[in-house]
Amino acid sequence: MQGTMLYGPRDVRFEERPDPAIIEPTDAIIRLSATCVCGSDLWPYRGVDPVTQPIPMGHEYVGIVEEVGSAVRNIKPGQFVVGSFFASDNTCEICRAGYQSSCIHRQPGAPTGAQAEYARIPLADGTLVATPGLPPTDLIPSLLAASDVLGTGWFGAVAAEAGPGKTVAVVGDGAVGLLAVLAAKQLGAERIIAMSRHESRQRLAWEFGATDIVTERGDEGAAKIKELTGGLGAHSVVEAVGTQESMMQAIRSTRPGGHVGFVGVLHDVEIPGEEFFFSHVHLHGGPAPVRRFLPELIDLIWSRKINPGKVFDLTMPLEQVAEGYRAMDERRAIKALLRP
Ligand SMILES: [Zn+2]
Repeated sequence: MQGTMLYGPRDVRFEERPDPAIIEPTDAIIRLSATCVCGSDLWPYRGVDPVTQPIPMGHEYVGIVEEVGSAVRNIKPGQFVVGSFFASDNTCEICRAGYQSSCIHRQPGAPTGAQAEYARIPLADGTLVATPGLPPTDLIPSLLAASDVLGTGWFGAVAAEAGPGKTVAVVGDGAVGLLAVLAAKQLGAERIIAMSRHESRQRLAWEFGATDIVTERGDEGAAKIKELTGGLGAHSVVEAVGTQESMMQAIRSTRPGGHVGFVGVLHDVEIPGEEFFFSHVHLHGGPAPVRRFLPELIDLIWSRKINPGKVFDLTMPLEQVAEGYRAMDERRAIKALLRP
């Protein structure tokens, strides 16, 4: 098959790869219907995360099951399935508490790489969720969004305790931040402040349910949030970037007793202890347990109550994957969808 490998900074190659095969009896092989480039793929692409050997890329996927191992009970060949970036058994105590991305048997969700024609998915019964049937083509982008960016934005909003009566601020206008706006709206938030200075992203934020846009960032952004909330700060703040500036912007935008849900992968972030101590802010986040939310998200998409697939503003054939990385790196695209 053909698949995507990252050889080093900005060196993405689409090349011949071994066909994935069942290794463990709990594995499944899927044929990808769609995949995409993740904001987190840009960390190694930009050389921030070192690349010491060529790595198979891609961890967002939807597709049709080709083959399952002998121990797989519920997932069947021919089903259309959605998975996420960590494989989990969905039965251990941590999974049952809703933290499948910290499953005691956690593995990469698509170790052979999902920016490819086929992928091996470990722990298929725990990891994959089948849709009610083969989806119409126009639902595929939204189902793909559920695989990572929607699930992650949703967890950010849940971790920030977004809900009725709450003012929610979202730091970051990438796909995850925009979908955290959508999640906050679905969870019933009263006011949703999107922090963005890009016109096309602001438009999508309005469409997903934002009630206010703040263009300032850093401490100016936090001051603006306070100004909009009677000097108090937001009840709930979703951090969807992962830098020192964005994390502090999130903490400083939150009122005492409020919650920050942080889902941007933190890179070299240090939180000043004394400031944090006196802030009275709850922090919760980490790699989203997307699996927890998948059944509900698939249902909302299947019944066309939400359309998260709108974050894909660029669609291209999978073999042009390198251009997808470039477009996202240069922020010409919010998110690139790749069709095998
Ligand atoms: Zn588990």
